[in-house]
Amino acid sequence: MIGISFTQKTLAARKRIALVAHDHCKVFLLDWAERHKDQLAQHELVATGTTGLLLQQRLDLPVESMISGPLGGDQQLGARIAEQRVDMLVFFWDPFEPQPHDPDIKALLRVAAVWNIPVACNECSADYLLSSPLMDQAHPHRIPDYATYLLGRA
Ligand code: PGA
Repeated sequence: MIGISFTQKTLAARKRIALVAHDHCKVFLLDWAERHKDQLAQHELVATGTTGLLLQQRLDLPVESMISGPLGGDQQLGARIAEQRVDMLVFFWDPFEPQPHDPDIKALLRVAAVWNIPVACNECSADYLLSSPLMDQAHPHRIPDYATYLLGRA
């Protein structure tokens, strides 16, 4: 990425995992999460409103819920990523249905790329992420160096 300096940050072993699923994909996310309940219980979970409520009911685990995605929940999660308060995103977005909050979805995915966090967009990629040995280790990763970025703009 031209013009951006980077620095290192360590993701803790206990990850803060953001979970989102569009309506037709919620059943897949809930089934996936139930299969991985024991592993997910080792981490902190945060989700958009409806996804969070359903996950909490299904898993009986604490899930911090933002407001519902179409009402701004995707933007809340994006803000947390920019604040480095989310370490990983599992986002089962619907490839078959247009969404009213499409700009928010795009923004969430963009900010996840900017801050270099792992993102899974479907069951298979989510399985690969969770089975990574890095899931349960502290892991240094590259992030934008905001202090240098600001200096360059002053
Ligand atoms: P929801 O939002 O979990 O509140 O349904 C998901 C989304 O559409 O972004």
